[in-house]
Amino acid sequence: MTSYKCFDCGKKIIAKTLDKRFVCPHCGSRIFYKPRIKMKTVKSI
Ligand SMILES: [Zn+2]
Repeated sequence: MTSYKCFDCGKKIIAKTLDKRFVCPHCGSRIFYKPRIKMKTVKSI
């Protein structure tokens, strides 16, 4: 099952939830990323 993480609130979103409208149900953000891809967290400031 594909799931995303909201870039804004960081909550997990299952792809089914984004079936028709690609908006975070928690905060309304439209920016997501796939948590499967390991991203190096770089602290800036
Ligand atoms: Zn969100």
